[in-house]
Amino acid sequence: MSTTTLTLPFLDGRPKQLLIGGEWGPAASGTTFPSIDPSTGAVVAELAEGDAADADRAVAAARAAFEGPWRTTKPAERQALIWALADAVKANFAELRHLEAVDMGLPIGRSPEAGADHAVEVLRYFAGWATKVQGDTLPNSMPWQVFTYTLKEPVGVVAAIIPWNSPINNVLWKLAPVLASGCTMVLKPAEEASLVALRIGELVAEVGIPDGVVNVVTGMGETVGAALTAHPDVDKVAFTGSTAVGQQIARAAAGNLKRVTLELGGKSPDIVLADADLRRAVPGAAMGVFANSGQACCAGTRVFVERPIYDEFVEAASAYARKLKVGNSLDPETRIGPVASSEQLERVVGYLDVGRSEGARAVAGGERLVDGKLADGYFVAPTVLVDVEDEMRVATEEIFGPVACVLPFDTLDEVVTRSNASRFGLAGGVWTRDVSKAHRLAQELRTGTVWVNTYNLFDPVVPFGGYKMSGQGRECGPDALDQYLETKAVWIRTD
Ligand code: NDP
Repeated sequence: MSTTTLTLPFLDGRPKQLLIGGEWGPAASGTTFPSIDPSTGAVVAELAEGDAADADRAVAAARAAFEGPWRTTKPAERQALIWALADAVKANFAELRHLEAVDMGLPIGRSPEAGADHAVEVLRYFAGWATKVQGDTLPNSMPWQVFTYTLKEPVGVVAAIIPWNSPINNVLWKLAPVLASGCTMVLKPAEEASLVALRIGELVAEVGIPDGVVNVVTGMGETVGAALTAHPDVDKVAFTGSTAVGQQIARAAAGNLKRVTLELGGKSPDIVLADADLRRAVPGAAMGVFANSGQACCAGTRVFVERPIYDEFVEAASAYARKLKVGNSLDPETRIGPVASSEQLERVVGYLDVGRSEGARAVAGGERLVDGKLADGYFVAPTVLVDVEDEMRVATEEIFGPVACVLPFDTLDEVVTRSNASRFGLAGGVWTRDVSKAHRLAQELRTGTVWVNTYNLFDPVVPFGGYKMSGQGRECGPDALDQYLETKAVWIRTD
């Protein structure tokens, strides 16, 4: 195995600090916690463990920036700052990718160009919106002369709470619309993956975004996260994470009726029809689950395959799974890295045990990998489960690991009913050459995204989010911007 080596001044051995009001400093408590490389089990850095007092200081800094310099920063200036940040992200992308790899295990070699493009385009897309946030002139029916119009104004101080599974995108999908709308933010990254957020915090300062507009408080969800969601001076919570924590956040935010957007979990169906081109459907559906070791909210974990091609599909998908190179996330050849943490390893292996006890059978993978150096990290073999019933826990609960449940079906009506019989509704996939079946399934799946003859594509212009318990609100696209804006109605009597 050869791993990429990059000397990173950012990882200089000193504990990483909190960014509050433009100043870097330790947590009020003085305590730290480690970031662990899931490929090797080694400590990468120590991070300040913020608490409620730090959350409070960060909210005050975000409020001061919102009511101070940021409020009067012209839209064109904000646009230029976001564009400058996009350039800085691009220039430092290799480093950000490296930090992601050692912090939570995303393989460095996975389509590197596509990754950089997406990160930069998200920022540039929202930079464009900064100068296009506008209200309407409204033709009212009043008996006197009254002029009515609307203004779109930033919601205010945003607490952005994000998970660990895709650190660069998790940060930028929140940060870009915050900046474009004129809001300010306190960012609480996941404890397993805070390095990217901290490095982007440095870039924010370097490009000249005013102090306090972006604050980064690392620490635990139960302390910093809970303090932010209950904080009376936070106007909105933008959360990505598990459905269980999303429910807690909705309850905590009720105190001052904060605006809340939630991007939550999924158990997405991926439907392979008998007429599909299997040369594309097999790798497409397999990577729809196995990419990022299955740690994607939209992973197509329930693969429904039309019965005439079921055996052929299972055999081909299993062969594909066995051939995927699993290894250290810094090895450019690695397709499947480790899962993000020892807790995540325990969870995924636990689900494999549950699946076996329920009667499911692994025809590929099905276990932790411990050969040679893999033993030091948290590696799970890409797994194909058969003999799965719809009601089993492995088919209904989010595993967040590289585990595909492959289920046969006979009719379109049946597969629609079974696909939609889930509390989640984040994404779905369809593989077919029949355009009429493709459109029918795209309409009938109760999910926020449907991919046809592809999977896991994202673009800043395309909204992403869930139906049902997969969340509320959307990331990306104009819908995302709207969720950081309030609408003010203005009435002026002119007679
Ligand atoms: P969690 O919900 O456990 O954590 C997400 C974030 O919330 C972390 O920063 C966490 O902090 C914080 N948090 C935890 N408890 C609280 C609390 N009581 N109050 C406020 N914040 C809290 O999710 P994971 O990090 O385990 O991420 C995996 C989940 O995220 C999966 O279920 C996945 O489906 C979902 N997800 C959804 C996406 C989407 O767009 N729909 C995208 C990516 C992931 P800490 O890390 O310190 O615990």
